[in-house]
Amino acid sequence: MTAPRRLAVIGGGPAGLMAAEVLAAGGARVDLFDAMPSVGRKFLLAGKGGLNLTHGEPFEVFLTRYGARQTQLAPWLTDFDPAALRQWAGGLGIETFVGSSGRVFPVDLKAAPLLRAWLQRLRGAGVSFHQRHRWCGWTDDGALRFATPAGEHTVRPDAVLLALGGASWARLGSDGAWLPWLAARGVDVAPLQPSNCGFDVGRAGRAPGWSPHLRDRFAGAPVKPVALNVEISDGRRFHRQGEFVVTATGIEGSLVYAASALLRDEIAVHDEASLTLDLLPDRNPDWVAAEVARPRGPRSLSTHLKSRLGIDGVKAALLHELLDKEQLHDAARLAAALKTLPLRLVAARPVDEAISTAGGVRLEALDQRLMLKALPGVFCAGEMLDWEAPTGGYLLNACFATGRAAGQGLLAWLAVEER
Ligand SMILES: Cc1cc2nc3c(=O)[nH]c(=O)nc-3n(C[C@H](O)[C@H](O)[C@H](O)COP(=O)(O)OP(=O)(O)OC[C@H]3O[C@@H](n4cnc5c(N)ncnc54)[C@H](O)[C@@H]3O)c2cc1C
Repeated sequence: MTAPRRLAVIGGGPAGLMAAEVLAAGGARVDLFDAMPSVGRKFLLAGKGGLNLTHGEPFEVFLTRYGARQTQLAPWLTDFDPAALRQWAGGLGIETFVGSSGRVFPVDLKAAPLLRAWLQRLRGAGVSFHQRHRWCGWTDDGALRFATPAGEHTVRPDAVLLALGGASWARLGSDGAWLPWLAARGVDVAPLQPSNCGFDVGRAGRAPGWSPHLRDRFAGAPVKPVALNVEISDGRRFHRQGEFVVTATGIEGSLVYAASALLRDEIAVHDEASLTLDLLPDRNPDWVAAEVARPRGPRSLSTHLKSRLGIDGVKAALLHELLDKEQLHDAARLAAALKTLPLRLVAARPVDEAISTAGGVRLEALDQRLMLKALPGVFCAGEMLDWEAPTGGYLLNACFATGRAAGQGLLAWLAVEER
């Protein structure tokens, strides 16, 4: 009998834990290393927002959410599709439901019970956890180097699976430090960039950000309902109704995140991106024009807008912020602005603040088993790969799916090596 293979998984987020599960089920001896004192910290944070595990829309539509990478991700997502993910969660005793938006959540909207049950199952399957082990690359002779509280530690597994995450919320463990180490070993990597992120606004002739009045009175205020329209110079368009939040320097929130890849790419090319807001998405332009044009007598513009159109609070403040006096007092121009209020964005917020990260290991640098072509025996999974998707459960589903595929790929590679 041959001794079980010794495998290292580095990174204890959803992708690494899923890979460890597959490897342990394949009979390997699995050591899972993580830099932090406990694993799954970002997963637990996702639980604060209800833990949107996946999405219930038809699978053909689901796949399109991965944009330019959908064809490459399709085989892995087909193998671990939303239904499989829900069944897997059910196997851990976590029932899920489809919310009104189609998003799928655990019934209790929490991540901790799922993670607890999962870690218990992984320990039962023989996975050894090594927390406070920060991987620092390789020694000259190819061993894995870890910084630990007891000093540097080296490990020589039979194969390694990296699931190191992106670079957002670095305090939870994923800091993107691995990117240059892989690049130095000939792995094709794309720069890490914010995805599902907020933006800073710019106003002509003024410093970036809002006026002190808007910032001090309305930072944190949700704008809803509202529709956001974007058309960028390469022809890509975005139009959706939803809500966003005014921040100290700009905008963020689900509607902004959904358009963030387009806006970020446009800013990268032109140093700015323009969008328009429809502050009355449920009203047609004729109705808006007729209501704005009604005589207002001695009433102030603010009272008129509030009583006739229901525009007050942060929406009224945005009009005052973004229009000049002449526009505000010209009924036709004001009506047009209520449906197409122009907003200029000048910078994406830093990657550390983003929900997720774009860039990372290019899929072309991997074979179908998710093994690095430049480093045989090294596999990668999760958010550290160069794909992006909007919020809606697509991020976690692809992390689970690639973690599973990389684990299976590693087992298949070992089987061939052993022949
Ligand atoms: C606020 C917030 C809410 C979110 N909500 C959702 C949601 O509801 N639905 C959804 O689909 N997605 C959500 N996401 C995104 C989702 O959490 C991530 O896409 C997912 O956790 C990525 O999984 P991963 O395993 O690839 O990486 P991570 O979860 O980032 O895990 C990587 C692990 O690697 C470890 N690590 C990194 N570098 C090293 C190193 N050098 N040595 C050792 N260990 C290292 C880290 O400590 C970490 O434990 C949310 C993200 C945020 C920030």
